[in-house]
Amino acid sequence: MIIGIDDTDSRKGMCTTYLCAVLVDELKKHGYGNISTPRLVRLNPCIPFKTRGNGAVSFEIELSVEKERKEREVKEVVKARVSELSELREEGTNPGVVFIDDHALDRIRGKENDGMLKNFYENAVREVMKIKNAYEIISNLHLDYFALKNKRGLIGALAAASFLVLQKTKPNYYDFTYELMAYRRKERWGTLRVIDEASVRKSDAATYPLTWDTVDVANNKLVFAPHSPCPVLFGIRGDSVDAIYKAYEHMHAEPVEREKLFITNQGTDFHLIKCEEAKEKLQDYHSYVLDGVVGSNPRTIEGGHVVFSILLSGKTEERSIECIAYEPTKGFRDIIRKLRVGDEITVFGSLKKKTLNLEKIELRKLNLVEERNPRCDKCGRTMESAGRLQGYRCKRCGTHRADKDSVIVDSGVEEGLYEVPPVARRHISKPLVRMRMEGANRKIHPGR
Ligand SMILES: [Zn+2]
Repeated sequence: MIIGIDDTDSRKGMCTTYLCAVLVDELKKHGYGNISTPRLVRLNPCIPFKTRGNGAVSFEIELSVEKERKEREVKEVVKARVSELSELREEGTNPGVVFIDDHALDRIRGKENDGMLKNFYENAVREVMKIKNAYEIISNLHLDYFALKNKRGLIGALAAASFLVLQKTKPNYYDFTYELMAYRRKERWGTLRVIDEASVRKSDAATYPLTWDTVDVANNKLVFAPHSPCPVLFGIRGDSVDAIYKAYEHMHAEPVEREKLFITNQGTDFHLIKCEEAKEKLQDYHSYVLDGVVGSNPRTIEGGHVVFSILLSGKTEERSIECIAYEPTKGFRDIIRKLRVGDEITVFGSLKKKTLNLEKIELRKLNLVEERNPRCDKCGRTMESAGRLQGYRCKRCGTHRADKDSVIVDSGVEEGLYEVPPVARRHISKPLVRMRMEGANRKIHPGR
């Protein structure tokens, strides 16, 4: 049986991954059967009413003997823990649980209904879903579920369960990474986290780039621990389970209550809709990869944010949109400030209020040619316009020239891919260092 859970936490506490860890350990202790590595699925990061990080979880439990009785018992344990541990007093917390038992799994496979789950998962990461979208599938596939308050958590619960169903059939169909979460003892929740920074930096240096987003070196910050009162002490993210545990073993911190490894869609860029997949009209709360040419020179606005416009080359209705690198993206803005009108670029980010919030940029072909008023061949003076369409004239000696000079400039930046630093990165965004294997023709400039 596959169990998906979402929306049990709030900004003030709890964490759906912790609830998952508690459940998995409890079900294991009672000897119900083998339990898979749980999944942590990040949903559309632009959703306005999301919970922190917009993450949902799922896991599979294999029940061999007395299956039906045990399924009933497991469901009761899950419902009890979700009811008990959810932040139900918080207005924005609306828990949902979806159960996909073996009969339902047979129905899904038998009628090739996994296409339905595939669409649902992908839409939950890229589109804005309604609760009724989840209900449609739940009733179509006759799934058992449990939900509280406005039941919005059913969306994430079904998406996380779907991700696991899809990975069961084709383990490598979707890109994935790992995160090892360490959880605090209850008496420490809400207090300052005790973490030995030096040991974290050492562990990070010894395992990067197989682990990533632990330390932001350029900004001199640990980025693997939250600052909220939630039960998470920290999470180590990476591509290699061995490297993650190696890093973990060498870190010194307060004693933990438990830890749990998750398989996750973090660090995969799965939220990005590619140019050719975008509908005619670009929509707010969606994330895109868009090609184009810099249309206006970048400028820094109040608050330290940097903006410029891009002339789009795709088939979308919009010919041009604004792009923004917010102040918290720190050094990334220095790259953006070096853009020049005419640079051929690809932008990656989320659209809000018709402005693309940049997560990455690829400088594909820099416009290094600058047109300048010509210099006089005879006396070396800069020539001036002789009037509209009349070329240029030297004021000192009267020499005439028809055209401007083309000068090759140094814009102070190299072509290639750039990203916001780890301190400003979304969970689901793919760190450039993960793209190091994707061929030599894409030059990457990891920011950390
Ligand atoms: Zn002259």
